[in-house]
Amino acid sequence: AKDEGGGVHCEYEPSLHATAEEKRQLEFSLRTALENDEMMLHFQPVVDAKTEEVVSFEALARWNSKVHGFVSPAKFIPIAEDTRLIVPIGTWVMNEACREAATNWPEHVKVNVNVSPEQLLEPDFAGTVVRALSHSGLSANRLEIEVTESIFMRDAGVVRKALEQCLALGCSVALDDFGTGYSSLGYLRKLEFTTIKVDRMFVQGAAQDSPESLAIIRAVVAMADSLGMTTTAEGVENQEEADLIRRLGCTKIQGYHFGRPMPAADARKIFSRGALKSA
Ligand code: C2E
Ligand code: CA
Ligand code: CA
Ligand code: CA
Repeated sequence: AKDEGGGVHCEYEPSLHATAEEKRQLEFSLRTALENDEMMLHFQPVVDAKTEEVVSFEALARWNSKVHGFVSPAKFIPIAEDTRLIVPIGTWVMNEACREAATNWPEHVKVNVNVSPEQLLEPDFAGTVVRALSHSGLSANRLEIEVTESIFMRDAGVVRKALEQCLALGCSVALDDFGTGYSSLGYLRKLEFTTIKVDRMFVQGAAQDSPESLAIIRAVVAMADSLGMTTTAEGVENQEEADLIRRLGCTKIQGYHFGRPMPAADARKIFSRGALKSA
């Protein structure tokens, strides 16, 4: 919808934003979350738009705090980023995700790992990736690193070098939440992204017949095609949306319709069962 500022409508969910006092308490607990074994990963399937076969799982961090109970990543990830705790947490996520994929998944299934700008600004981010791959035995072409446009607000040289090292290793790099930030098409020239992830906002808009959202998805797909990138539509929640996205030509689909984020043990069952929908 066209609204204030003429841009794309952006949701503000106050409940997701912690107050200063809450933040302080969460930060205190977050410092010991890893050593207290409070972090785990959930995995959400990404399917091929045409065949609906699982091609990847996105690793999503989950924090079950002994003090605060379950805390949403929308709340704790920004705190982890502000305090740089995202560096050790992110390394843990990278190691866990690679280990799970290498140990328990078929070889054609990749793993997607979210990486924050703070991690990419570390002097040895590529080293962290190399170690996660070698410790787990995962081949580099099964790891896709997801970054958002926010990386370009930071020291572009350092960030770009880190991601180029990952590409040189054989990893893929996806541009996440495309269209929600301070998007500039120029960003697509700065790095050879493998995938553009089209944010749920546009999927929802398109499903509600928003001409702008439809046009944006069409344009992103056309642009990705000509740049040799694939597209993943995020947040597809029902059959209608899946059909629409398929018609619009996105390569891959992710969303509740094909599977919610789930514990590792449940993700493994998808392979032994051979199909997603017989759940
Ligand atoms: P994201 O990377 O955009 O991840 C997708 C989010 O959309 C996930 O939320 C997922 O549960 C949700 N989602 C997936 N399909 C649907 C759908 O069909 N409908 C709706 N309404 N939502 C859907 P989640 O797990 O709460 O994560 C939120 C954000 O937290 C992630 O957004 C990502 O930015 C961040 N995050 C999560 N884990 C990590 C991590 O390990 N490292 C970093 N740096 N960030 C992470
Ligand atoms: Ca992501
Ligand atoms: Ca996303
Ligand atoms: Ca998002």
